[in-house]
Amino acid sequence: MQVKKIVLLFLVLPFVFPACSPKGTTEKKDRPVVVILGLDGASWELIDPLIAKGRLPLFKELKEKSAWGYLRTITPAKSPVIWTSIATGKTVAQHGIDDFRSKKADAKGNFPILQARDIRQASLWDMLDVNGLRSMLVNWYLSYPPQPLNGVNVSDYFAKSAISSHRKKGNIQSQTVYPPERFADLAKLVVPDYQQALKSLHLPDFPELYKKMDTRKEYLDLLILKQFPNWVLQEKLVTDVAADLFLKEDFDFFAVYLKMPDVVQHFAYMAMVGAAYKKSMDRAIVDGDLPEAVKAEAYARVADIVCPVYQNLEKTIRRFLEAEKDREVYFIIISDHSFTFYVRDNKIHYGHIEPKIAPNGIIIMRGPGVKAGKIKLASVYDIAPTVLYLLDLPLGRHMKGRPLRRLFTFRHGNRYTVYKKKKPQPFKQNRELDEEILEELKALGYID
Ligand SMILES: [Zn+2]
Repeated sequence: MQVKKIVLLFLVLPFVFPACSPKGTTEKKDRPVVVILGLDGASWELIDPLIAKGRLPLFKELKEKSAWGYLRTITPAKSPVIWTSIATGKTVAQHGIDDFRSKKADAKGNFPILQARDIRQASLWDMLDVNGLRSMLVNWYLSYPPQPLNGVNVSDYFAKSAISSHRKKGNIQSQTVYPPERFADLAKLVVPDYQQALKSLHLPDFPELYKKMDTRKEYLDLLILKQFPNWVLQEKLVTDVAADLFLKEDFDFFAVYLKMPDVVQHFAYMAMVGAAYKKSMDRAIVDGDLPEAVKAEAYARVADIVCPVYQNLEKTIRRFLEAEKDREVYFIIISDHSFTFYVRDNKIHYGHIEPKIAPNGIIIMRGPGVKAGKIKLASVYDIAPTVLYLLDLPLGRHMKGRPLRRLFTFRHGNRYTVYKKKKPQPFKQNRELDEEILEELKALGYID
């Protein structure tokens, strides 16, 4: 039934109403909008036990009414590598982002953080650009320095920069947004107070909870807890900027990246689970791994700790799902990897980079003509071609992934083209912001 409705709409509209709409509008309205909500580290192993306890009604509904499954990832699961593969549809060897930092030292002997300029391939928004379509990017991984595009790129350095500009009163880093003149308005959405931001995101004050626990280690020695307030302020700003642009702007493609699940999962087991339980976990190791039943209980325990993060994600997702658009919208909710328990030195750890096989991420997809049910095979490489397919644009040649055609009740033709990356604009490095990023990567344990 739904197929017929869509086909009819496509066939009839241009012929019946051309006189009623301004030139070009009919054509534009026929094209759907594609939205990617990127949730770093989001895991079914944590979502499922919370659904079972009735604590995540929206995820439950999405699982029942949408296409959903695991998103096959890349080992080792390093976020910049994976998010770049998602945005380009290409492999590490093709796009060149193989880690957090460059393996080549600069003149001073430092290993610079890899940035947007180092990506050797066209990303989705470059591909939309040459097809005359408009993109909105918010906090996308490796989107700084933002390059000119048809649309708005609120880069992954924006939140830090807007918050520190607010504190120092004046040191405005408008080059973290393209076009730069949009910086000032977006930076007005900063909520500078940690307690207020926590309250608004309904998150517990994890560092405070840690202080009340019976641990030997001072919380300030745990860099990740020390950094936590910064991430809270950033998450609040990114969420509000994304919601604001989503409501006010016209676009064909929208992508937002949220970091909080990854951050909290990094310390949930390490810092928030009691020593006695951890000892019992270490004792449960059999043949170098945990029995499934022990694992399931451990996931449920971590899930209870991170529950508020997922409940807040539900609020954010709902804001997007309920925002009215006069066009059909496809929502693709994905994570780059999940987290898993693994053994190192006869002890249980919880993470995503060290395991021999990276734990796969999640995918949820909904929109007109998307069949509900479990997705059998989907990989991070399939996202870019699937977005092009939904927008009925030519697919990129030499992409590793394929559009997830079997999820849809409709068929588009197959056209291919070569998408080239534009030459990056001249740019002056901002040392201060780079330092802040290094601090965050250290706190997450990604670099030494
Ligand atoms: Zn990640």
